[in-house]
Amino acid sequence: MKYSDPKYLHRLTYDIVIIGSGAAGMALADSFYKSKKRILILEAGFEDWREQSQTIYTGTTSGYGHSEIDKDRTRQLGGSTNCWGGSCVPFDPIDFELTENGRNLWPISYQELMPHYITAGNFYGIGDYFSFKHNMLAHYIFSDNIPGVAQKYWLANNKNKLFKDVYPNLTGNRSNIDLCLQANAIDIDFENSSSIKSVIVENYNQTKFSIKTKKVILACGGLESTRLLLNWAENHSQFSKILENLGLYYSPHIDIRSGSLVSFPGAINNIDSLDLTKDISALPFFNLSFKKSDQDKYLNSQWSLRARKYGIRGRRFWLWPEQLVENYSKQEIALMNYLAKENQLGEVFDFIVAFDQTPSSKSRVTLGVKKDRFNLKKINLHFHISDDDIGKIKNTYREIGRIFGQNKIGRLSLGEIDNYLSHNQVGAHHHTGTIRMADSAKYGCVDRNLKIFGVDNLWVCSSAVFPSPSQANPTFTIMALAKRLAENIDNEKLHY
Ligand SMILES: Cc1cc2nc3c(=O)[nH]c(=O)nc-3n(C[C@H](O)[C@H](O)[C@H](O)COP(=O)(O)OP(=O)(O)OC[C@H]3O[C@@H](n4cnc5c(N)ncnc54)[C@H](O)[C@@H]3O)c2cc1C
Repeated sequence: MKYSDPKYLHRLTYDIVIIGSGAAGMALADSFYKSKKRILILEAGFEDWREQSQTIYTGTTSGYGHSEIDKDRTRQLGGSTNCWGGSCVPFDPIDFELTENGRNLWPISYQELMPHYITAGNFYGIGDYFSFKHNMLAHYIFSDNIPGVAQKYWLANNKNKLFKDVYPNLTGNRSNIDLCLQANAIDIDFENSSSIKSVIVENYNQTKFSIKTKKVILACGGLESTRLLLNWAENHSQFSKILENLGLYYSPHIDIRSGSLVSFPGAINNIDSLDLTKDISALPFFNLSFKKSDQDKYLNSQWSLRARKYGIRGRRFWLWPEQLVENYSKQEIALMNYLAKENQLGEVFDFIVAFDQTPSSKSRVTLGVKKDRFNLKKINLHFHISDDDIGKIKNTYREIGRIFGQNKIGRLSLGEIDNYLSHNQVGAHHHTGTIRMADSAKYGCVDRNLKIFGVDNLWVCSSAVFPSPSQANPTFTIMALAKRLAENIDNEKLHY
């Protein structure tokens, strides 16, 4: 059943309560559809976007340039899938090999997640990512294979992007799944020293309800799941084990657009999105395929090209380099002159690059003093990038530049990276790291099964559990983790 307010809930006892109805909540609910368990999804917002709900997401930011945190997520049914791009790509094998002081960052392997990417792909409607029309897409941006560069693509299902459209099918009269709107989870009650017995929710009329449950899954987005836990930890000693790491290691991907490429003629094949079926499209990108032994030199990164308005003596406007002086930096003019002298015809592209980040405890989410209407403290998000990572970013640019030069793709200008980082928004809507997964509470907040250390029946399903953000967009991996968690819980594979 779907309820528009907790005051209408028929029953207040469930097997599993899922907090949040976004990509994570939706992928979980889809898996529990045929389960015998009674499931309740708590959604804080309404069916549509409302100021009343969205304003709860406000907070402050500091450090490197970051988007406002109430602007890059949506607090309504379907969560941030109401505003996302829909692009999905799995993490890379290298992500699962990264280490921190000699210890593996990820407690799970690439192989372990692989089958769940397939289930997640089937749920989202893009099918098996790993076998999807590969032949059509191989060597899409560059016509030849370039050693050291991996050509990849994001898949999007343009018909299934809005997850709120899927709920009517899951919550019909005879379903085991209930969904309740205007149900803001604000607190939890413990049965004993380590087990939750109920979730406290409040609607927008200041009425509170206590919902009994055997299990709770926190799936309300990277920042909000962190905010709830930080608030709860102030009142419940059960969270003492995770305090050392909770809120730390925030990373949203480091977005840099300072570089550009002047390409040799014919080197770039195609940079546009390709429709693979009526609903599914693929957008190409590439990355540097570095080895684990190079972890201290490079950062994993995703690169896509955007054609500039002008080509040098190019296909759109037949301009000589001198005529472009106003638009280009000195280095770019030098490159263009170089190419012009050689009598080449080329094109100019901007780079859109998103970098992985080495976990840094200085990059973090903390509670501020201001409170929301439910008496929960708001957050400050401090986005820090280490000097080490800035060095790795420059190395990665240089290496891509070297490979491009050697393979006659073109000449690369890095742009002013330090200046760019200091004066631009370089972080936005991929909220990872702040409830990270680890083998022990010494290094993280949830175990390999996403269960909170020290609490028997609370799991977190969100990008906040990623120990490192990868180059990849987060949502495909969130959905794969949701599929894995639901399967484990439903089959009672988890002991507690
Ligand atoms: C502009 C934009 C473009 C993006 N493009 C992409 C992309 O192309 N590819 C990609 O992989 N990712 C993309 N993302 C990121 C993607 O949207 C998120 O990774 C994804 O939505 C996260 O899913 P989630 O379920 O963890 O959180 P959300 O989707 O944010 O869902 C959280 C849900 O929890 C609810 N909630 C919050 N607090 C409470 C509470 N206390 N009680 C009850 N319910 C609560 C919220 O209302 C919401 O419904 C984009 C994001 C933005 C903003």
